[in-house]
This record gives sequence, C-alpha cells and structure tokens, in this order.
Amino acid sequence: MNRKEYVLSQFGLGPRWVRRGQTYPAALASAAAEKMPAVLPSSAEMTHTERLSPAMDPAQPASSQLQQALSADRPAYAYAERQAQALPLAESPYQAVQLSPAQPPARALPPMDWATLEAEVKGCTRCRLCETRTQAVFGRGNPKARWLVVGEAPGEQEDRQGLPFVGRAGQLLNNMLRAAGLDSDTDVYIANVIKCRPPANRNPSQDEIAACQPYLRQQIDHIQPSLILALGRFAAQTLLETTEPIGRLRGKVHHYASTPLIVSYHPAYLLRTQPDKAKAWQDLVFARREMAHLQGKP
Ligand code: SF4
Repeated sequence: MNRKEYVLSQFGLGPRWVRRGQTYPAALASAAAEKMPAVLPSSAEMTHTERLSPAMDPAQPASSQLQQALSADRPAYAYAERQAQALPLAESPYQAVQLSPAQPPARALPPMDWATLEAEVKGCTRCRLCETRTQAVFGRGNPKARWLVVGEAPGEQEDRQGLPFVGRAGQLLNNMLRAAGLDSDTDVYIANVIKCRPPANRNPSQDEIAACQPYLRQQIDHIQPSLILALGRFAAQTLLETTEPIGRLRGKVHHYASTPLIVSYHPAYLLRTQPDKAKAWQDLVFARREMAHLQGKP
C-alpha cells in the first residue's frame, strides 16, 4: 500500500470514495449503497447525495423539518449541518454560540493544579448536566503535548467510558492523527468544550457553556499547546467567540488568546459525510504545516 492509499484507508475513504463533482453517477451509487436517508428537496444548495432524499414539505418551515430530521435520523446531519449554516441564527437548530456581553458571566474558578482541576470536573455540579451524566469527561492524551484537539461534548460512549472521542468517531480521529504522523496518546491532548453529556446529545445551552468554559480555559493554560485544532462548529465558535459558519472558519490560522487555532470538521460529522473527509485531510495537512512553521522548520 503506497502512502496515498494508506492515508485514504485511515480516513475510511477507500475505493468507494469519489471526488465531489467529478464522478456524479458514482457518487450517487455510493450514497445509495450507504442507504443515506438524508433529507431534502430542490434546494440549489443541496449536494448530489442529498438530492437522493425524499422531498421536504414546502408548507412547513425548513427549521422545523430540520429539527425532525435531526431527531429522527442521525444521518440527516449531513444536510442539516449545511442547511443550518444557511438559516438565520434565530431559526438554526444549531443555535450558534454567542458569547455576547449579555451572557451571564461564568462563576470564576480559582486557579488549580492539574490533578485538582480534574477532580473538580469529576465532581462538578456547576450546571444541570451533572444530574444526567454518568460521569464527567475530563480529557485524554498527553497534558504536555504541543497539539490540543478540542471537540464538542461527550456522547453516549464517552459518558459511559469517561474518555473523549471513543467509539467510531474516536477511531476515525485516531486514524486521522496517525495518518498525519501523530500519536493520539503522546503527541496530542484531547478535550471537549463541555465535560458532561447533554441528554440525548442535544446542543448544550449557553448557561451550560458558560458554566463549563473555565475548565477548558484552565486546561489550555496548563497545557500551553503550540496549536489548537478545533473540531466542529461548536468548538470553533465557542473558542473563537464567533457565529461564523465552519466553512468560513476553515483554512485560516485563528488565535485563541495568543495560541494559533485551526478549524476542521468534527469526526462524527465526517462519518456521515464522506466527501468532507478529504477537506478534513486538507485541514490536517494545513495544521501540520503551521506547526512546522511554528517550530521553525521549512
Ligand atoms: S458540563 Fe461542565 S459545568 Fe456542567 S456539570 Fe459538567 S463539568 Fe460542571
């Protein structure tokens, strides 16, 4: 297996992967094979894959149909993610994170050493998510790593195992990092914006984010990463305090405080949206280049 094939296999692209816009019939066949139940109708914004889906009811607001699609069928995420970006914020089922001055400030946390911080998170009751979690998920990896990967919130498996990015999304993340020459145990630290699972994987509310943010801030202060990789719109918007859609945030070097930050897709989203895996690989290559630049390498 050559290098290219190896990288593609790590991303799960394999022989079924087709470049978007290049082989349309093959892309349709591939999506059909996946039985992608996606969603929508005749929107010019829809991808070829999405056009496979049954039509939406034009009499209903798009936002409510998206909500239904999300709750009824997780693979509909692919369309919903894209569509949510096109909706006005007030309608979006993804309610962009707005850290405006109007948001109640989080109760301050005293500076803690790493072990105390972890213990504090494990026993935290600062927001209502403590009532429904199995356990809080602090993070995994090397707390002295140069790379910090930040995701959204624990899902069912993470809540059960007490570790971030386990299950299929975690496997994909590990494979992506490995393909980029990074060991997920030694070269990176992985954490989430929110430490406890929101019930039924709903989006965290703004007060929950505000309550939990001091933990991530202190984690970043301890780790002092050279580069942060924010995975998914939720992590990116929270760390950058913006409402910009992920498509506009990718491909640039942002900063969290003074730490360079690069945005890419969340692995859970990539599991449902094969074509965007190639974009995620571009993001990782971009991040590797930026890290080499930061280390003074050519
Ligand atoms: S989500 Fe964060 S703030 Fe809320 S209980 Fe869990 S650790 Fe505490």
